[in-house]
Amino acid sequence: MTPSETGRFFLPGPTEVHPDVLAAQTRPMIGHRGRAIEELLARIASGLAVVFQTRCPVIVSASAASGLMEAAIRNGVHTGPVLALVNGAFSSRFASIARACGREVDVWEVEWGQIHDLDGLAERLRDRRYEAVTVTHSESSTGALQDLEGIASVVAEHPDTLLLVDSVTGIGAVEVRPDDWGIDFILTGSQKALALPPGLAFAVPSEAMMERAATIPDRGWYFDLVKLVESLEKNQTPATPAVSLLYALDAQLERILEEGIEARWERHRRMQALTVEWAEGTGLGVFAVPEGRSPTVTCVNHPEPKRVVSAMAERGWTIGGGYGKIQDRTFRIGHMGDHTVDGLKALLAELDEVVA
Ligand SMILES: *Cc1c(COP(=O)(O)O)cnc(C)c1O
Repeated sequence: MTPSETGRFFLPGPTEVHPDVLAAQTRPMIGHRGRAIEELLARIASGLAVVFQTRCPVIVSASAASGLMEAAIRNGVHTGPVLALVNGAFSSRFASIARACGREVDVWEVEWGQIHDLDGLAERLRDRRYEAVTVTHSESSTGALQDLEGIASVVAEHPDTLLLVDSVTGIGAVEVRPDDWGIDFILTGSQKALALPPGLAFAVPSEAMMERAATIPDRGWYFDLVKLVESLEKNQTPATPAVSLLYALDAQLERILEEGIEARWERHRRMQALTVEWAEGTGLGVFAVPEGRSPTVTCVNHPEPKRVVSAMAERGWTIGGGYGKIQDRTFRIGHMGDHTVDGLKALLAELDEVVA
């Protein structure tokens, strides 16, 4: 990709990666045991603590984010029941993963584009004792944003119930305070809001999550949180880490910290406001309910989304198609990662001509 072509890639993941971050991956290889990697992992750990606003360890795994969704279930749930809050494709995947791991799952599904109400959650948690609640913070298939702080405060009334959160298009771009809010496991992938190449996943386990994991004998090997955290404390990893991706992460953390995490949240809020204003101004409208919309992905109503996506491609711009069962009536704009308000304005000006 030539530099002139950057700033035109607005998929809701993978997202555009800055050329300096891509270039960092070409550094020479180092062994995965010894001083050099330990220094790299230590530096990364201190940056991640700021990005994820936590004093808990931040696990870095060489996997897709879905790997850590599986880790959430295998380390956080004995047999169930799990209460899965479903409002789109990715939250539905969380429920499927729990079932695929042999756990009992109660699905509480609301319409795509909606979010779950806190009174309903409180009622369900009173009616049945759940080992865990799964939730997708920012549902990338619809652009809906759950009230994570509110959900966490309801789940906190039940100390035996863990809150397991897929925040793949949330954390790093949207304000989240895992320790203060009482989230037991929150995970993301490298290729979304963090604007890194795909291939790494991250998670913050609470103390309660670690205590639960220790009581589950068949939690597996690759995603065993106890083993992962023990290694992390020595700045090591149980298996070979994705060294080149760690170089990219190291470079990107420096860029994120230079901007500041709160400034990053604010930039995403501004990009969201601009996109929503544009979508409403055109008369097309936004798919997700007004009270819960994601700062990272906007799902726009349109009768011919495939035409829009390909017309934009012909002009040299990439946006996302609709996802799953709403693919024929929506397209998606991923305004996350390192995109800027000005860059987004240029995209929307182009889109204006295409949707007209
Ligand atoms: C992209 C995405 C995932 C899946 O990430 P993988 O890295 O492909 O496993 C899960 N949840 C949400 C909300 C996502 O946006």
